[in-house]
Formats: sequence, C-alpha cells, structure tokens
Amino acid sequence: MTETVPGPGDPVHGPPDPHGPPREDAAGAEFEAPMRLALAEARRAGEAGDVPVGAVVLDASGSVIGTGHNDRERTADPTGHAEIVAMRAAATALGSWRLDGCTLVVTLEPCTMCAGAAVQARVDRVVYGAVDLKAGAVGSLWDVVRDRRLNHRPEVIAEVLAGECGSLLTEFFAGRRVR
Ligand SMILES: [Zn+2]
Repeated sequence: MTETVPGPGDPVHGPPDPHGPPREDAAGAEFEAPMRLALAEARRAGEAGDVPVGAVVLDASGSVIGTGHNDRERTADPTGHAEIVAMRAAATALGSWRLDGCTLVVTLEPCTMCAGAAVQARVDRVVYGAVDLKAGAVGSLWDVVRDRRLNHRPEVIAEVLAGECGSLLTEFFAGRRVR
C-alpha cells in the first residue's frame, strides 16, 4: 500500500468548499473571542443611534486594554470612530501613545483616518471583521497600513466573524430606511 499525501480536492477531503471559511481563517480563529467583544461594543453604538462599529485593543498578552464604539453623534466629534476611541483608551491605560505589541480588533475595515492612526500608534496587528468596499483603507479602496513606503507596517488579519459584523451594519441601515 502506497501512502499519498492528501491535498485539496482529493477523495478523502472532497473538493474545496466555496462557501467555506474565508482566507486566513486559521489566524483569524484566534481573534474570534476579542471580535465578539468588539461586536458587543458595536451594538452599544447602534443602541445610541450611531453606526454600529466597535473596537477593542489587546496588549501583547491578549488582555483587553481599551474598548470603544462609534460615538460621533453623542460627542459631535468627527474623529469619534470606534478605533480612535479604543486606541485612546488603550494609550491612556498604558500611559504611552505607543501601542507596540498591541492588536487593534475592529468590526469594520478601518477608514483612512483610523488606518493612519493605527500606523501612528505603532500597533503590531490590525484585525477586522466586515470588508468596507466603499471606504476601507486596509485593502479595499486603499491599503494605508501595508504601504511599502512606510517604516511601520502592521500585520493584517481580515474577515474575522465578517458575517456577523456585516449584518449588524446591514440591519442598522435597513432600519433607518424604514423610519
Ligand atoms: Zn475610521
């Protein structure tokens, strides 16, 4: 009997599932728990009438050191995006603007401002849920964090719990149209 190495599409594992987990799912699974915390933050924004986006910042050991959700309406602050709020909280907790070793976890692909802020904060990693094809700056419209001209380029893990993150937004905007 000859041993064969099973590969994709072989009779043992069957064909690759087109509806299967998104790319980078092995790396992404590790961040599902913090993404659920970010989702809880996003729901808080939605309840307050703001676009439901939530974020958490993890330190190098994986502990949550900052949380935030979209807060533009309440604070009348154009920079009141979930990522900014969470990174400010994390920086306050650490007593430093540098978030070396930290991971930003956010339910929606960051915009140019937040992607820029993540680079400025020197986070090690950006993990996001839903892709934002209209304004995303971490791979969709732009790729601000992985621009080769930058010295600091965080690692990116995309589409962690993307379905849940996206449907929260879809439901929010659908509800708005009904009103
Ligand atoms: Zn933003």
